[in-house]
Amino acid sequence: MTQYRSAMAAPVDLIPREERRTCLREAGYNLFRVASDDVFVDLLTDSGTGAMSTDQWAALMTGDEAYAGSRSFGELEDAVSDVMGFEHLLPTHQGRGAENVLYGHLLSAGDVVINNTHFDTTRAHVAANGARAIDCPVEVATDLSADAPFKGNLDVENARVAAAEAGAERVAAVVLTITNNSMAGQPVSVENTHAARELADDLDVPLVIDACRFAENAHFVREREPAFSDSSVAEIAREQLSYADCVVMSGKKEGLSNVGGFLALRDPELAESLKPRLILYEGFPTYGGMAGRDMAAMAVGLREAVDDDRVRARVDQVRSLGDRLRDRGVPIYEPVGGHAVYVDAGSLLTQLEPSEFPGQALACAAYLDGGVRGVELGSLAFPGTDRPELLRLALPRRTYHDEHLDHVAETFSTVLDRREEIGGLELVTDPDPPELRHFSAELRPVETGVLAD
Ligand SMILES: *Cc1c(COP(=O)(O)O)cnc(C)c1O
Repeated sequence: MTQYRSAMAAPVDLIPREERRTCLREAGYNLFRVASDDVFVDLLTDSGTGAMSTDQWAALMTGDEAYAGSRSFGELEDAVSDVMGFEHLLPTHQGRGAENVLYGHLLSAGDVVINNTHFDTTRAHVAANGARAIDCPVEVATDLSADAPFKGNLDVENARVAAAEAGAERVAAVVLTITNNSMAGQPVSVENTHAARELADDLDVPLVIDACRFAENAHFVREREPAFSDSSVAEIAREQLSYADCVVMSGKKEGLSNVGGFLALRDPELAESLKPRLILYEGFPTYGGMAGRDMAAMAVGLREAVDDDRVRARVDQVRSLGDRLRDRGVPIYEPVGGHAVYVDAGSLLTQLEPSEFPGQALACAAYLDGGVRGVELGSLAFPGTDRPELLRLALPRRTYHDEHLDHVAETFSTVLDRREEIGGLELVTDPDPPELRHFSAELRPVETGVLAD
């Protein structure tokens, strides 16, 4: 079921294979360094890359750019209150701006933060404040093929043990990331959210929800948590967020916008105490890091985000990309999550050692064979960990059609056919800090083969 017809058309070209080869070489085999005009189907991220609706474009024109007391701020405040149930809104330029304002206030050196799995920017903000990030995913999450409904959940028992080991008084916050982006976009149940609330109460710390994909999560709850099978996405989202003291949001995800983010809070005192940092790093509290027009568009986007048909079409499209790949024998993380399909590069390119970056080699092969851009999440992005070698294919919202998905599947079919000819890569530059090296590192093929020819 298609939910949108095109109201504007952006042409895309598949440049010839030889040009793609040149692009790869000139980009140092790093797809972050490839120009978007040289990409045919861009699955690098779902962040800020989606299409806005005609209602959002209309709202954009009504933006009130007043420095103080902007009407557009009021609209966003109303939307956050109606959709998410929080009365206090602090707008920021994007999600990490919200993290900086919140975690810079909450955390001191030596603190720990417990999370189902820290997203990269969250982990970096925790570390930047001298605190320690502790991940407590459920055990089944790291089994790439196990079929379980809520592989994004927090392992509450492990979290209690970790808190006791760290010293309960050192725990500064419990965070739930929904869906769990760093765990293949897997959902978190409402029951688990309730348990996380109890944990936070026992530790006497705030429960923060990183709500970037709260509506996709609510859709999975409706499908998989029997108590909610008759509820709407909007109802489930309100229920799930009701357990949190505070929400961190990137509007580039389910604000359905190209930029923006916010903090939403229940406690007026906490909101007040965050304002000096908000003003210092983002802007005056009625615009934070956003233009009035962008707040107006996001206010509309947030309401659209919880539309049942919108979310269903979204999650089904991601799933259908997964189906197409699985049908062609491409190994993927199961079940498929909310915003992306994760290809298991480690079991596709068994000839490559982790030190030869199988995920990156697969990413380059898919670009070479079909102009498809994904992102490596393995040894290159997470040096020094034993994470699986994954290639993430994230779908921008309301952007691509079945033809694009078929093209991606055909591309991976081709790659699969000559998997044995795909050689590994090595670093030419290894930029600092290590957690961010994958954005700019240059690589080269270690031997002859598909990438080196
Ligand atoms: C994208 C994202 C962020 C950071 O948001 P930006 O808008 O990119 O700064 C934080 N948490 C999660 C789970 C995200 O997916």
